[in-house]
Amino acid sequence: MDTVPAKKIITPAKGGAWFGIDYNMNLYRGCCHSCIYCDSRSNCYGIEDFDKVRMKENAIAIVRRELSHKVKKGVVATGAMSDPYNPFENELKLTRRALELLDEYEYGAAIATKSDLILRDKDILGFISEHSPVICKITVTTVDDSLSKKLEPGAPPSSRRLEAVAQLSNAGIFTGILMMPVLPFLEDTPENIVGIVRAAKESGARFIYPALGVTLRQNQREWYFNRLEELFPSQRLRERYQHQYGNRYQCAVPGAKQLWSLFCQECDRAGILYKMQDIIAASRMGYENPQLSLF
Ligand code: SF4
Repeated sequence: MDTVPAKKIITPAKGGAWFGIDYNMNLYRGCCHSCIYCDSRSNCYGIEDFDKVRMKENAIAIVRRELSHKVKKGVVATGAMSDPYNPFENELKLTRRALELLDEYEYGAAIATKSDLILRDKDILGFISEHSPVICKITVTTVDDSLSKKLEPGAPPSSRRLEAVAQLSNAGIFTGILMMPVLPFLEDTPENIVGIVRAAKESGARFIYPALGVTLRQNQREWYFNRLEELFPSQRLRERYQHQYGNRYQCAVPGAKQLWSLFCQECDRAGILYKMQDIIAASRMGYENPQLSLF
């Protein structure tokens, strides 16, 4: 695999408002899960050939150095700009070794992924949760496996991700679902939203954090529209998006208010958290470290 030079790998996160995280960590650049809506393809990030995964040079040595020098303990997140459980991770084990270091230096972990390869590291996540918060966020945007195979072709289908949620939850690891994006005209049906909440309940998920819409910007928008035309040629989705949103960045699903009400009602009934402050508070329960900031 190609490598890219790296000076820093663990960077401070802004304010802790996003799942209470204190730091971000990216061990890889690029992602081969090839989600057709991926925001990381946007021009503003400047990542060439995004679908090709590269690893950061000396990543583990840098992570060790950075963790050993940080004054403030906290929760380290991974999975923002590339999936930490891409298929190469199976052999390379960069994510696994970084988690081992989080355990060794007593940091918490927040992982976002679409892969059930995370189950391989259930043991280390368990060790970390003995001293620090752990949050596993598995993305599920549809309960329909044939649709998830079209929209997220390089990732395991939704049913395998839900099985991963079940196994992590059974192991006592704080786990939930990122229901984002919910794609307008494709995933914004009451059946899909209710289906995800019910599947989450069955798999023991503690939370679902949603985004009822998608963000589109330069480069990524054109990529997305081209894929929509290839995958759903008869649905005229490019025209429908352009008519509905023009060049807008935030594209909320039509009928977002009603879907939001339905979503909240279903989550309340299922006892699933969906407000960020509630999710953060639940993930911190039992950890008394005053250095871990709630906001
Ligand atoms: S898994 Fe995440 S980073 Fe990878 S292509 Fe999909 S949205 Fe992008």
